[in-house]
Amino acid sequence: MGSENHKLHIFFLPFPAHGHMIPMVDMARLFAARGVRATIVTTPLNLPLVSNTIGTTKTTTEVPDIVTIEFPCVEAGLPQGCENFDSIPSLSLIPKFLQATKLLQESFERLLLQHHPDSLVADLFFPWATDSADKFGIPRIVFHGSCSFSMSATECVSLHKPHKNVSSDSEPFVIPNLPGEIKITRMVLPDFVRNDEDNEMTRTQKQCKEAELRSYGVVMNSFYGLEHVYADYYREILGKKAWFIGPVSLCNRDVKEKSYRGKQASIDEHECLKWLDSKKPNSVVYICFGSRSDFTQPQLRELAMGLEASGQDFIWVVNKSKKEDDQWLPEGFEKRMEGKGLIIRGWAPQVLILDHEAVGGFVTHCGWNSTLEGISAGVAMVTWPLSAEQFYNEKFVTEVLGIGVAVGVKKWVRMVGDSVGKEAIEKGVRRIMEGEEAEEMRNKVKEFAKMARQAVEEGGSSYLELSALIQELGSSYMAKLFAARGVRATIVTTPLNL
Ligand code: UDP
Repeated sequence: MGSENHKLHIFFLPFPAHGHMIPMVDMARLFAARGVRATIVTTPLNLPLVSNTIGTTKTTTEVPDIVTIEFPCVEAGLPQGCENFDSIPSLSLIPKFLQATKLLQESFERLLLQHHPDSLVADLFFPWATDSADKFGIPRIVFHGSCSFSMSATECVSLHKPHKNVSSDSEPFVIPNLPGEIKITRMVLPDFVRNDEDNEMTRTQKQCKEAELRSYGVVMNSFYGLEHVYADYYREILGKKAWFIGPVSLCNRDVKEKSYRGKQASIDEHECLKWLDSKKPNSVVYICFGSRSDFTQPQLRELAMGLEASGQDFIWVVNKSKKEDDQWLPEGFEKRMEGKGLIIRGWAPQVLILDHEAVGGFVTHCGWNSTLEGISAGVAMVTWPLSAEQFYNEKFVTEVLGIGVAVGVKKWVRMVGDSVGKEAIEKGVRRIMEGEEAEEMRNKVKEFAKMARQAVEEGGSSYLELSALIQELGSSYMAKLFAARGVRATIVTTPLNL
């Protein structure tokens, strides 16, 4: 164990999926920038994603270290090289992928033994991380990658099971006890919740929940001012210990930092900026459905027709598998849209695009990172949720914050989205880009964007919550140090910080 001058050392263990890794790498960078020694643990094939996101010409001088452990693909029955959730070739392999993440425990514990960090921030989907941290006598903090609104909604549905008291999938019900009278239907619940299934996924979820209850607390990529009602509810009513330290994406300040997140972008950042620079402020709508969503060809065609009919300039990100074959586009679409629409086939520099003043709207699948990045950039949204907790995020954007409109999808689906007609797409895009309603939403979201920036600046709420967390982990380390030297160490705290 080190001396009193010891630099607090935190291990970060992100779940291998882009939507989980990108924010956790940003988070590790935030800790490093505040003088903490941060080490990110990942697997060899995910290493470029992590180092790409950390970058080399960053505005912060202190950057996290990276260490790798082998991902047990073959042992779990996965194809060789399947180290990221987004590269799973078929849904049927998800249980094997989860199994592989469980098999990581042993080699991860060898790393703990070798590096003896003082604390561990691990993704929710590593339930065993709480046991590993316990074994080494260090606090384990959970990273969910969501907001307190959606986590509270999930918890209320799980506790009260209101979906069991309705007579059909489409009958609306209020989420019991959740502030705001939020109404949903059974159809927007994940299939395993709706059907009360017992499978690898539900068992893993139960283990995650149980491990979270035994963990030190939860770190949240959100900021207090955005959702103070739900932050208070989450902490005070649901009794969770949580720190709101986001938006973490705001640690990316220059062009390179904003461009190099996750995968290598499929467009040169300067070419992208040149295109955007030629457009008027708030005149471009950006369409992207996260890191792994996909649509059928007829749905993509419908989207193209809806966009064309809306008359707006756009940047549209489509899955890389559509790169070579343009059968999915209506005839002559790209020719007609020349100069008006930019299609990025593959990976977009999302934060760079959203932050450009030409972008005024965002058609999003409501992944929490995208949602928060949209809020931080001050753009109004058309919400098109697909799976995970995205339907709750839609409610948060459209009903709680009033900064977006729903495109109208009604059903939770895995991977391939529910179908939406071109008229609904055109209408949604026009509503966030034209007229009084659009202006009202944009003014509101620009206020939230201002609040987000203030939250992460020195003295802002997220800055202070991060300080408090670092201080607390430092005290926990000191108490351990004293205890190891035979001193009876007692930490004095309040009930909620217990
Ligand atoms: N992202 C990106 N370029 C893309 C697609 C996604 O930079 O072309 C980033 C996006 O900025 C966000 C993350 O990938 O940080 C996606 O996370 P989100 O929670 O929105 O969705 P998920 O991919 O987990 O469904």
